Amino acid sequence: MYDFLIVGSGLYGATLARQLKDAGKSVLVIDKRPNIAGNVYTKKMEGINVHIYGAHIFHTNNREVWDYVNRFAVFNRFTNSPVANYKGELYSLPFNMYTFNKMWGVITPEEAAAKIEEQKKAAGIDTPKNLEEQAISLVGTDIYEKLIKGYTQKQWGRPCNELPSFIIKRLPVRLTFDNNYFNALYQGIPVGGYTKMVENMLDGIEVKLSTDYFDDRDHFNSIADKIIYTGPIDAYFEYRLGNLQYRSVRFETEVLDKPNFQGNAAVNYTDADTPFTRIIEHKWFEFGKDENGNDLPKTVISREYSSEWKPGDEPYYPVNDEKNGKLYEEYKALAEKEEKVIFGGRLGEYKYYDMDQVIAVALDKARELVTGTFTICSQ
Ligand code: FAD
Ligand code: UDP
Repeated sequence: MYDFLIVGSGLYGATLARQLKDAGKSVLVIDKRPNIAGNVYTKKMEGINVHIYGAHIFHTNNREVWDYVNRFAVFNRFTNSPVANYKGELYSLPFNMYTFNKMWGVITPEEAAAKIEEQKKAAGIDTPKNLEEQAISLVGTDIYEKLIKGYTQKQWGRPCNELPSFIIKRLPVRLTFDNNYFNALYQGIPVGGYTKMVENMLDGIEVKLSTDYFDDRDHFNSIADKIIYTGPIDAYFEYRLGNLQYRSVRFETEVLDKPNFQGNAAVNYTDADTPFTRIIEHKWFEFGKDENGNDLPKTVISREYSSEWKPGDEPYYPVNDEKNGKLYEEYKALAEKEEKVIFGGRLGEYKYYDMDQVIAVALDKARELVTGTFTICSQ
């Protein structure tokens, strides 16, 4: 008998496992994949830590979370500065003075702000009601057309005027020459890869891989007092109210016999015709060096193709629109009746969480389970 069975060894499951174990609870972690770490899993290829389930850059303003992850890994000083490639024209991301200068030839922040205002006015938008209107209000029509429209429609498989505006609010808009993609106090990549970090989090904890909770629910329910479930909430209820929608991603990964393919970790292809959304060149997350500081002769790249999730695919991004929000609330009501089970994480809560947010909610949940008190790490 265990106090807790944790279904999923991603960051939510691993954080709870660590906290509960340290509080003296007995814990078993299972994962249906053959590896730990969920979507932050990295695998070494040609001396390079390849982000197998998509590029992951750790960034946070939350000091408690930053101190927490630094217990398990040393973080390098990587700063995410993707480049946008629109039909061969290269632009800086996020939207900043370099982007505005390249797009319009403007030199000063006043000129850039005036240009955005002029385009916003011409589009006649007062209160943005969807992603398209929000984007035009933030950066004007030219940037929307070249850097947002095609990319977003490929990424989400829906027109921008049917998507919620919060998605685009994730991207900073700056009237400064600052290419840092995130507005975060702390940022970096764990040296040696995320898998090593999660391995450290799970140190001394029993983990069973290639083990699917759904293969023997009755058995798993019988061996623990409580279950922490981090898989998709609709899958738990056998899709009885219908499928929640997710976006899936297919990665085409290639080893190239050259040291440098694109000179940057991420290049976004923002036109509608290029079938992939972006190319990741993994070695640049660690400055092109191996752990001894030597240059790596080869490179590994991944092209990302976005698609609508269907049964059998990996669910990556919850589609947090109104329709899915309503369905999720219905599943949540069912989940609240499952007294033995706690639903958590990106799929368990159907929420577009970043890594730091997932760790924050897991730390709060652990405190609640151990001491019965609610705290505010995730606020
Ligand atoms: P997951 O990592 O998905 O873990 C869930 C685990 O549960 C999986 O290992 C799965 O195999 C297991 N599981 C599911 N069902 C079962 C079952 N029935 N039985 C057993 N095991 C099961 N965040 C950032 O902060 N920065 C980024 O740059 C960033 N980039 C991202 C890029 C992509 C492409 C994606 C999809 C996400 C990105 N994120 C990023 C978000 C980040 O991946 C998540 O916040 C985080 O990994 C979620 O952790 P989790 O534990 O909730 O879920
Ligand atoms: N986005 C865009 N062009 C880009 C990069 C992002 O239009 O070159 C939009 C797109 O809609 C995306 C959103 O901004 O879904 C948020 O981007 P982010 O990089 O945060 O997405 P992630 O892949 O991290 O979820």
